[in-house]
Amino acid sequence: MRALRLMEWKSDPVLVEVDEPEPGPGQVVVRIGGAGACHSDLHLMHDLEPGMLPWEPPFTLGHENAGWVHALGAGVTGLEVGQPVAVYGPWGCGACIRCRLGMENYCLDPASAPVPSGGGGLGLDGGMAELMLVPDERHLVPLPDGLEPLTAAPLTDAGLTPYHAVRRSLSKLTPGTTAVVIGVGGLGHLGVQILSATCAARVIAVDKKAEALALAEEGGAALAIPQGDAAAAEIMDATGGRGADVVLDFVGTDDTLALGAAVSQPLTDLTIVGAAGGTLGVSMYSVPYEVSVQSMYWGSWGELVEVLDLAARGLLRPTITTVPLDQAADAYQRMASGTSLGRQVVVPNAS
Ligand code: NAD
Ligand code: ZN
Ligand code: ZN
Repeated sequence: MRALRLMEWKSDPVLVEVDEPEPGPGQVVVRIGGAGACHSDLHLMHDLEPGMLPWEPPFTLGHENAGWVHALGAGVTGLEVGQPVAVYGPWGCGACIRCRLGMENYCLDPASAPVPSGGGGLGLDGGMAELMLVPDERHLVPLPDGLEPLTAAPLTDAGLTPYHAVRRSLSKLTPGTTAVVIGVGGLGHLGVQILSATCAARVIAVDKKAEALALAEEGGAALAIPQGDAAAAEIMDATGGRGADVVLDFVGTDDTLALGAAVSQPLTDLTIVGAAGGTLGVSMYSVPYEVSVQSMYWGSWGELVEVLDLAARGLLRPTITTVPLDQAADAYQRMASGTSLGRQVVVPNAS
């Protein structure tokens, strides 16, 4: 079968022929219906050096995956061939308390996972191929009625990650408050929709692209502001000088972190989701009192179930551009040049 593989660090991925995976005991092979192209893949291709992680390429890209059960390994009892499923992406040891709580994104013992890796598409083979080996049935979530694998795929990361970011700050997102979303791409456009669906805060979106700002307004943002020198003042004006109660930064460059700090007020949650590697100096007087600055990584299994439920009920509608597997590399070029909108999803199998 064909697979889009990263062959070495600091290189572009290539489409190559690989053997079809066979499921071992407890494992499942999924026929992929959608594999989202995430900006983290660009960081993976371009920012990592040999020796920085405990694993190395080659591996197949694609860590936002959904499809249909294709083959069951011995002892798998809870799934049927043909059943539509989403793949929960962070794969931990499965035995520590965090993994047992469904928080494999924060596994306490990742070194004792069956194979140390970032998960499928991040160190082990991912979903940019016709078939994907999922090493344990616990990583699969049956899709609720009405949800197709194509729509579910980006929800496993571009939906789950902002959902976790919103959920951890929900108690601050009461009526009369403001949430600022910076970067309305794959994650951010779903972040705006998740805020609209789950809380009463007013949403202000910031991006450097006009099309992304329009997408934010479609998703429920009350105000959409171009990133630039005037953005902080516009947000302060729009909030009567009060600023943001929660900032979700889906970019993470120096300029977006500075914007987040500039519109913070005492008690703001300033959550860094974007992995662009910018820095923000934090001292007694650089941000208001009791501002909580946090980074975060992905979300829990239970939160994925909740995200899929929101989408099945029509409350989350990812903007998707489908891309055939043989053009998957072009999707990353578009993302790198800033011309993608919403999420590009690679479709290796039609149905
Ligand atoms: P994307 O390319 O789809 O979207 C990025 C958006 O940010 C685009 O709309 C772009 O116009 C906008 N943007 C870029 N620079 C900007 C700036 N300086 N000011 C304002 N807007 C700007 O990317 P994505 O797939 O949504 O990923 C976003 C980031 O989140 C990436 O860094 C990715 O690696 C990271 N990420 C983190 C996690 C996590 O768990 N923490 C999970 C997935 C992705
Ligand atoms: Zn991702
Ligand atoms: Zn664990």
